[in-house]
Amino acid sequence: MTANAENQPIKFPTLPLIDQGLLDRAWAEAARQGAEYEPGEREALLARIKRLLQEQDAVLVAHYYTSDDLQQLAEETGGYVADSLEMARFGNEHPASTLIVAGVRFMGETAKILNPEKRVLMPDVEATCSLDLECPVDLFTEFCDAHPDYTSVVYANTSAAVKARADWVVTSGIALPIIRYLADRKEKVLWAPDRHLGSYVQRKTGVEMLICPGSCVVHEQFKAEGIRALKKEYPNAQILVHPESPEEVVALADVVGSTTGLIKATLNPEVQEFIVATEPGIFYKMRQASPTKTFLEAPNGGLGGSCQSCLRCPWMAMNGLRNLAQVLESGANEITLDEEIRQKSLIPIHRMMNFTRNTKLP
Ligand code: SF4
Repeated sequence: MTANAENQPIKFPTLPLIDQGLLDRAWAEAARQGAEYEPGEREALLARIKRLLQEQDAVLVAHYYTSDDLQQLAEETGGYVADSLEMARFGNEHPASTLIVAGVRFMGETAKILNPEKRVLMPDVEATCSLDLECPVDLFTEFCDAHPDYTSVVYANTSAAVKARADWVVTSGIALPIIRYLADRKEKVLWAPDRHLGSYVQRKTGVEMLICPGSCVVHEQFKAEGIRALKKEYPNAQILVHPESPEEVVALADVVGSTTGLIKATLNPEVQEFIVATEPGIFYKMRQASPTKTFLEAPNGGLGGSCQSCLRCPWMAMNGLRNLAQVLESGANEITLDEEIRQKSLIPIHRMMNFTRNTKLP
């Protein structure tokens, strides 16, 4: 709860907006995609997808949190594995006329915002993100309107409509430099939607911030106690933490960073063991870069009784070879955006990209 200029309380938003039914539906689809293959099925799917990518002049861009199969396929077929912004950037530079975005909805939207002339397809458009869900545009707009003297900064994990209403878009990799820049300009910041990343940035910069209370269903679950216990078993391990995790987990970290930042941290030749507090899809790239090192999943509290793997993001797990092949064949699940929203959302994204170009990131 915060207060507006007249000291009237403004509530944002009415959490929880994520119910167990929503998670159950995501896990049910994830189970269909992740079901064991019949003999020869995987090879047949891979061959079919590779043929279709060529026939359709399409390229596959996959997020670090998708399955090993999808990340490997993206790399083998000239596509790319990255975080959301790099996925969109790659799509922009690649000559293919169709982008297949394996990830969650806001990533498909970001690809479309930056590549309006291209066809953007997703294996499953219902694959979403708790941060996006917890920041609906009507509540966000109300919150911004109540605080007109604040600069609104939204995380990349938001809808195109929310981005269109924001002053800045940030990724976890660029959040700190951008907030420091705003602080130098004496701006106050309204932050949405991730409360843990927001409070991490606030602690690091001391900026006056109003922070929306959203969270990532995966990172929210990491538990400091479990990580401390694992560290006792592996005293030489470095603890790598994504800043969407709770404060007490971030406090244990040797390195706090974005997905790309955490992957870079594992290249440190001095360290052989890592306890990693982020979605375990990231292990594909970590192991690829350092096959002899040990990567341990940071313990968490689980997502409720129905999760298959309590560390996996249920929505990322909705992406699979099966629905990827179907979408390539049918052309279904195309991302479309209202042109006015697309153009407005481009402004804060370009602001971030221009800032990134002129800033040396750690
Ligand atoms: S891991 Fe968390 S932040 Fe990433 S897509 Fe899933 S719910 Fe969203």
